[in-house]
Amino acid sequence: MITTRFAPSPTGRLHVGNIRTALHNWLLARKGGGRFILRIDDTDAARSREEYAEAIRADLAWLGLTWDAEERQSARIARYEAAFDALRAAGRIYPCYETAQELEIKRKIALSRGLPPIYDRAALRLTAAERAAHEAAGNQPHWRFLLDHDAPIAWQDGIRGPQRFDPAQLSDPVIRRADGSWLYMLPSAVDDLDMGVSQVLRGEDHVSNTAVQLQIFTALIAAGFGEGAGAGKPPALPAFAHMALLVGREGKLSKRLGALGCDAFRAQGIEPEAIIALLARLGTALPIEPIVDRAALIASFDLAHFGRAPARFDEAELERLNAAIIHQLPYEAVAARLPQGMDAAGWHAIRPNLSRLSEAAEWWAVVTGPVTPPPFSPEDQAFLAEAARLLVWDDAPWASLTAALKDATGRKGRALFLPLRLALTGRDHGPDMAELLPLIGEAEARARLARAAGISA
Ligand code: GLU
Repeated sequence: MITTRFAPSPTGRLHVGNIRTALHNWLLARKGGGRFILRIDDTDAARSREEYAEAIRADLAWLGLTWDAEERQSARIARYEAAFDALRAAGRIYPCYETAQELEIKRKIALSRGLPPIYDRAALRLTAAERAAHEAAGNQPHWRFLLDHDAPIAWQDGIRGPQRFDPAQLSDPVIRRADGSWLYMLPSAVDDLDMGVSQVLRGEDHVSNTAVQLQIFTALIAAGFGEGAGAGKPPALPAFAHMALLVGREGKLSKRLGALGCDAFRAQGIEPEAIIALLARLGTALPIEPIVDRAALIASFDLAHFGRAPARFDEAELERLNAAIIHQLPYEAVAARLPQGMDAAGWHAIRPNLSRLSEAAEWWAVVTGPVTPPPFSPEDQAFLAEAARLLVWDDAPWASLTAALKDATGRKGRALFLPLRLALTGRDHGPDMAELLPLIGEAEARARLARAAGISA
């Protein structure tokens, strides 16, 4: 069974890049009939805020991305301590005493010699006396995970294909700060094992983390972690897939994308269905279409469709998709957000004219009135007087009225339709009159025609 997770840090609101990661993990889980876990990565106590965790839940709910379980890293600290102790006992974690400035100097020296800025493992070479001196001086160590340089790192990435890393080209990662707090690397691996995550799908900015975490996973399993798989069975490592990054329309990483989230979308009148339809297909070989039906998006989801090129997020494309989606939304999906009194027939008549739902009120006002048409010429007034006389309220009053007027006056095309539309709605364009007229109602329609004709009804 497939298990995926979305693991945001509650240090801010979700932005469009996070939303895309959440969506694809959700699609992957739903496609496989599996589980989608929301994991709140809140080990950074200084930056994590409860209100952000709540906003993340609210945004996911608004997007319709339902989760099957929620986990919080701050509730699992004891588990990370146990992992830390086990890895330390296995000789895979070592204390380091360099200050941030010392590390920065080492980095600069390496770079100035044209070398990659890989941590030199000086802490491993400290003598017992040097270590004792640090301890005596009250220096608290930070902790690094010891990569195994003799174990080449390789995986079959679900999107990028075969990946290889030489561990000697990577720095031993710092996994715990001197104040005892946790960095992302170890807790995430412990969680993925414990929670039986079968597929880690995330942005390609995590590729080198994956390389490191593969060794952490292996070391954890060797230390007896990850019993989640069930009795007797060795826990399986998750499969990994890394998505190409999301960039702005110009093809660059954009600041705006980093700030664009559900609040902004809501304010722009973008429906969650439009965001989902766009992000589900962006960066894949499948066409971007105004698909409202989640089942169709789930059925067509496949990691094999993802490309390696950055996915371009274009707000104009989102606007177009939003309009096309609104034109399909059923009344029940929007009823609560429509103007008072607007029923299913009203929605059906008006939705083809909307590019955002908030515009419904403007068109509904055309139905409920009053309307203010422009002044008409004497010929048009005579024509509209004729219209008021000929109006019959049958199954299709607009078709009957225009047919009768055509016969009676010889008018056709624009000359026939425009004065009627103007008189009945006060506007020269808008929803299909055949749908609108029955909503206006017989008495009101006759009154509007008569008023426009300059005769009192
Ligand atoms: N909290 C991490 C982040 O937001 C999770 C990364 C991951 O998916 O492992 O970047």
